[in-house]
Amino acid sequence: MLQLDIDNVSVSYDAETVLDAVSCCIHSGEFIGIIGPNGAGKTTLLRVVLGLLKPTKGSIARKDVVVGYVPQRGNLYSGAVPISVLEVVMLGANGSKAKAIQALAAVHMQSYAHKRFTELSGGQQQRVSIAKALAGSANVLILDEPTTGVDEHSQTEFYTLLRDLHAKGTTIIMVSHEVDTVLKLVTRVICLNRTILYDGPPEHFEADKYLPGAYMKYHLQLHHQHGDAHV
Ligand code: ADP
Repeated sequence: MLQLDIDNVSVSYDAETVLDAVSCCIHSGEFIGIIGPNGAGKTTLLRVVLGLLKPTKGSIARKDVVVGYVPQRGNLYSGAVPISVLEVVMLGANGSKAKAIQALAAVHMQSYAHKRFTELSGGQQQRVSIAKALAGSANVLILDEPTTGVDEHSQTEFYTLLRDLHAKGTTIIMVSHEVDTVLKLVTRVICLNRTILYDGPPEHFEADKYLPGAYMKYHLQLHHQHGDAHV
């Protein structure tokens, strides 16, 4: 059983404390949505979990954890040299073509294997990004704002895929600003603004209690423009 234990983690840049005594324990089979306003420290927390950033205080303990990281769109592969979808996934599979094909099948992208990665739509690129992570035998997927700049229809497909992967046993930690979608999708919400403001089931999360008014106003405007949520 995998376990990720974030124990009293603080991160400071110069005089600014970005994360302050953050503690939580993540177990197999959870689907966690991390939400919070811009600058709340969400990406910083992911970087600590990924081992890219050493906390100023506190510690992280990982048991049986193999992390696969799905970065924000556009950060996976810049396209400087045109390579195929299959080759991108093979980069995450230690060069194994068989593993890469299997991972592409898991995200329903096997028929795109020989296309150039840069020719795919945003939503398709994010699926390939997941395949690359899974090809490295990840049991925890960490996603940072995965659907930014992805059209609404592809977003719905993308979230359906995450739901499927979760149902098949992948543990998921996702940072997202799509509050309504997160609340419908995840098993546990962590609302962060320097410290953890809420950590619990989505049913008991009251957005207007934990998120600043200006943030909620922005979301209501977005939904007014685009219709209701995406799941
Ligand atoms: P979020 O992902 O919630 O928007 P971040 O974790 O990216 O927030 O950033 C939290 C705060 O930390 C912000 O105020 C940001 O400016 C600051 N910050 C992030 N990375 C650095 C860095 N490398 N050096 C200094 N400040 C940083």
